[in-house]
Amino acid sequence: EARLQEAKDSIRDVVDFPKEGIVFKDITTMLKSEKHLNTLVETLYQQYKGKGITKVVGLESRGFILGTVLAYKLGAGFVPVRKPGKLPAPTYSEKYSLEYGEDEIFIHQDALTADDVVLLHDDLLATGGTAKASIDLLNRFHLKNVFVNFLVELDFLKGRNKLNTKYEVDSLFHF
Ligand code: IMP
Repeated sequence: EARLQEAKDSIRDVVDFPKEGIVFKDITTMLKSEKHLNTLVETLYQQYKGKGITKVVGLESRGFILGTVLAYKLGAGFVPVRKPGKLPAPTYSEKYSLEYGEDEIFIHQDALTADDVVLLHDDLLATGGTAKASIDLLNRFHLKNVFVNFLVELDFLKGRNKLNTKYEVDSLFHF
């Protein structure tokens, strides 16, 4: 569809960010357009409405942007997955490896229950480390069903293979 293609074309490539050799996909140039923001929200809403989603889980921090809007549109609640030291109450956590070293993500233990149907959302799937750890976090709750959504997937990094999940995974834009 033309409107989606226009939105995709508005994503900016930033060379050598955050370090040399990386081409960073910058979605701020897409989100700042009221037309593209409308297209993104409406497209994702049409895709996920009627699936019984009760909670949208957004990954810090760009997953919070559309995650919250989608939760509102779907009549669901919003749950943040956060970096170390941010969540105040008892948490579950998962470690995952980065190119250099390790990172860890957290979710409140009382954020979800087994009868929740979750839409897990982040802006971008790269190597899949973050998303894999997030799915492992969600598995602690024995949820009814999970849908996984990204705005952007970098197909050449094959992050999708790392997810190794029975859940439906979909990305709006592929590079
Ligand atoms: P992964 O764990 O390698 O899949 O990296 C995904 C995480 O890093 C997501 O939370 C993204 O927000 C962030 N990320 C990695 N590369 C990019 C990029 O090119 N643009 C925007 N975010 C990125």
